[in-house]
Amino acid sequence: MSAMWHWLIVGGGIHGAHVAKALARAAPDTSLAILDPRPPLAAWRQRADACGMDYLRSPGAHHLGLRAGELRAFGTAHGYGPEHWLSIYRQPSRTLFEHHADRVFADLPRIVAAADMLERRGSFWRVVDSAGTAHQAQRVVLATGPGAPHRPLDAPHVFDRDFALPRRRQELVIVGGGLSAAQIALRAAAIGHGVTWVTRDWPRVSEFDSAPCYAGPKCLGPFQNASLAERKRQLVTARHSGTLPSGIHARISAAVAAGTIGWRRCAKPSLTDGGVNLGGGTTLRAEQVFQATGFTPHPPRDSVTARTVSQLGLGFDDHGNVAADECLQIAPGLHIIGRPASLVLGPMAGNIRGARLAAERLTGMITGYLTERPNPDPRRTS
Ligand SMILES: Cc1cc2nc3c(=O)[nH]c(=O)nc-3n(C[C@H](O)[C@H](O)[C@H](O)COP(=O)(O)OP(=O)(O)OC[C@H]3O[C@@H](n4cnc5c(N)ncnc54)[C@H](O)[C@@H]3O)c2cc1C
Repeated sequence: MSAMWHWLIVGGGIHGAHVAKALARAAPDTSLAILDPRPPLAAWRQRADACGMDYLRSPGAHHLGLRAGELRAFGTAHGYGPEHWLSIYRQPSRTLFEHHADRVFADLPRIVAAADMLERRGSFWRVVDSAGTAHQAQRVVLATGPGAPHRPLDAPHVFDRDFALPRRRQELVIVGGGLSAAQIALRAAAIGHGVTWVTRDWPRVSEFDSAPCYAGPKCLGPFQNASLAERKRQLVTARHSGTLPSGIHARISAAVAAGTIGWRRCAKPSLTDGGVNLGGGTTLRAEQVFQATGFTPHPPRDSVTARTVSQLGLGFDDHGNVAADECLQIAPGLHIIGRPASLVLGPMAGNIRGARLAAERLTGMITGYLTERPNPDPRRTS
């Protein structure tokens, strides 16, 4: 049995690691550890590599440091030139963003193991990892990342851990209408594959994946004071899924116009022998079909987060949200961050900005800026 931690962060990706850093800074005497079998940026890098992503979609103000403007200052101090900042929105290059994040997260205490089970024991939480070791903590933060890859087809997904483009030239069909699909189509075409891109509609332009005003009080204030039904409505309208930032939109439009990428519209493609059926008697021949169709809104069914929520008698709504109080608690001393906390943190809950908003909530609780309030009815998200 390990010592009693004040805070145990289950999942030390972008969100868990940022929150751990912020808590350690707000309460230097607190004992805190991250429980995760993977390094902080491993999941992020795997997905970004798979898409061939070079620049972030979000602006440089959304970084993982603790001080405003920190990424810009880090870039200047480490000789990153203007080519590391994209467009008037100053989206950072991945190289710069990850170099900074690696530095920020370097000294976080980590237990290299996966959490398998959580249970309440009197006034603390007991977390058993996959090696059978038990860890005790007064407070636990669930930060286990996005849902499972969304699979409308029985085909490889760009977010599968073993995803790789074929080495020799092939005829590929890429299914999915968002940024990841566009990026993978461009990457595959650039290395010589024959690519047909299948989307429900021709994608619209939006620089960001949700309305930018939800990054701050202008929209978040009214959102947080709105009824549950109104918050759910705003989450749907504020998220710009299936859109592309103008730079990628221009590149893929040019590739389709030039014929280096084929494009077909289809709302419900299905697999056939040797290709994809687009309906209406139209079939596309393909040696490989890949889907880049995002994540399910819910954590994977067999994940520790899904099992814990279920054991507590709570539930996720249709959009993967779980009811939490102002301090992101779903039960006394058990906090949840990331996309499932969207009803508190708004549409950017799963983004880098969401990690910062979550950290503000948890450090606000420590410093007394926010007071814990029992969740009025944690069973209800509808
Ligand atoms: C291609 C791509 C590009 C993106 N670009 C942007 C962008 O430009 N701007 C932006 O704001 N957002 C962006 N996002 C969204 C978001 O910021 C990322 O998805 C981010 O990585 C989510 O961080 P996370 O910590 O929630 O999840 P992850 O990075 O997946 O980390 C979760 C961690 O939890 C661990 N874990 C899981 N289960 C357990 C367990 N049982 N026990 C212990 N540990 C566990 C995993 O090992 C992992 O390390 C992008 C997403 C993708 C996929």
